[in-house]
Amino acid sequence: MNILIVVAHPDDEVLGCGATASLLAAQGLSVRSCILSGQAAARRERPELDELYADMERARSILGLGEPIVGNFPNIKLNTVAHLELVQFIEAAMLETGADVLFTHHPSDLNDDHVQTSRACQAAARLFQRRPDVPALKALYFMEILSCTEWTFGAGGDQFRAETFCEIGEELLQKKLDALACYRGILREYPHPRSKEVVRSLATLRGSQAGIQLAEAFQAPFRLFNPGDFC
Ligand SMILES: [Zn+2]
Repeated sequence: MNILIVVAHPDDEVLGCGATASLLAAQGLSVRSCILSGQAAARRERPELDELYADMERARSILGLGEPIVGNFPNIKLNTVAHLELVQFIEAAMLETGADVLFTHHPSDLNDDHVQTSRACQAAARLFQRRPDVPALKALYFMEILSCTEWTFGAGGDQFRAETFCEIGEELLQKKLDALACYRGILREYPHPRSKEVVRSLATLRGSQAGIQLAEAFQAPFRLFNPGDFC
């Protein structure tokens, strides 16, 4: 099983599904990120490009993920890129990784780069319908990114709905926090939504919704039902 996490920016892969991705990688699955904008421009604290790549590498190493596929599309300006270019970049990443399962942004996120990424990923997800050599997709999941996804208040359409839950436990939550701390300028002081306290609070809330201790939650617009999962 090959997992591809399609996100706009370095750090989104950790915020959205860092603990789940680490869990899947530890189980022997191939888990890689496709990060559309590997540019440092317009990032908080304006890291040098080599610093951003070093941050990305340390976070990847902590989570145990495979090598990321990093694009050079403009940060906070993905709406200036032709939709087709984004789709083709994601399709190429899907072919390179043999992706069976995709994780991406929710399409009603407040951050417009996240919206563009989600739309392009949804278009790319149908690649198996156009290419007989591409295996059928098993699932497409939307993620929630603290400080962005919860700030639409429904204004951009449907809000994120937590409906699929992955139990992560203390160790994986700590890995997620450690990986986030690799990215300079991302974690802030409480009560900012991207503080350690709120990352933990969200995991607690999502866990409680599912009757477990700590969880990351996803919305599944597409999932191939497998009766074997219940046997
Ligand atoms: Zn982002």
